[in-house]
Amino acid sequence: MIDSYGRRIDYLRISLTDACNLRCVYCMPEDMRFKPRAELLQDDEILAIVRAAAELGTTKIRLTGGEPTIRPGVVELVRSIAAVSGIAKVAMTTNGLLLADLAEPLAQAGLQALNVSIDTLNPAKFRRITRWGDLHRVWDGVAAAEAAGIHPLKLNAVVTRGFNEDEVAELARLSIDRPWHIRFIELMPLGSVADFQQESVVSSAETQARIEAELGPLHPVPGHDGHDPARPYRLAGAQGQIGFISTVTEPFCAGCNRYRLTADGKLRLCLLRDREVDLLTPLRQGCTVEELKTIIRTAVWNKPWGHGLPNGDVPQLRVMSQIGG
Ligand code: SAM
Repeated sequence: MIDSYGRRIDYLRISLTDACNLRCVYCMPEDMRFKPRAELLQDDEILAIVRAAAELGTTKIRLTGGEPTIRPGVVELVRSIAAVSGIAKVAMTTNGLLLADLAEPLAQAGLQALNVSIDTLNPAKFRRITRWGDLHRVWDGVAAAEAAGIHPLKLNAVVTRGFNEDEVAELARLSIDRPWHIRFIELMPLGSVADFQQESVVSSAETQARIEAELGPLHPVPGHDGHDPARPYRLAGAQGQIGFISTVTEPFCAGCNRYRLTADGKLRLCLLRDREVDLLTPLRQGCTVEELKTIIRTAVWNKPWGHGLPNGDVPQLRVMSQIGG
């Protein structure tokens, strides 16, 4: 599919649930309410959308959430998605808490890539950021993902002022001895937690300067895929890479090839724009495959050019956990 700006859109991110087993301070309020399951897409509805998307040229699917691993039957769903003709890659973004048991079955089912969110190496700080998470379980999950042969493993850290901006060099250091991609994400403002988020943004430039001050120069990795939001670098002699995702200070909308499906069945054409297109209602009203494809194709054609953060245009309708990042 091509949008009206000529961008090829072939990467669909699907939120499998709005619920999560953590409550990261920068992601959602502590008293977050989740939707009843009947209001969320069922497995057959997700598969119908994936098949239609694949027929329209979508080749990559990323499963996210909320926390995708808490969805009942997630392994079988991955197997079914991976088997759809035209889908070349199935990936997942997870907090890793349940990966110790799930990494191997997920890999067997066809999951090829994993991004694990890990904002700190300090267990007490991890509990503070996630409101109750156990960091050791995440590391068990990372080990299980490696043992399952998932490579490259990407570790995502959202840099949040007052929480972990002093720890970015320690996180970056992980890339020296491990072939991991350590990616630093700028905090994005959304919904009811936008004020806190806006006050807590740490620019990629600041993060990079902190890393270089402690660990030496970062060398750009040649051959950057223009669709990858992370600008890749390497520390001298390192096995892995460092990436910066600078959505706020250096938007990369020109290279965007993605669209998103929320757990309640809305196509979201830009992470940071509120306009959505409903797929759940037409699906439940019995629309045909061709009708579904027309809705998706039209929605993608109308994908906005980019977000409006530089103009103070902050999306209000959802917090990040309801979209999936
Ligand atoms: N639960 C999974 C996880 O923890 O990775 C998947 C969903 S989570 C919403 C996806 C990613 O978005 C995580 O890396 C998370 O840290 C990041 N994230 C959440 N809120 C964010 C925000 N306001 N700005 C930037 N990234 C955010």
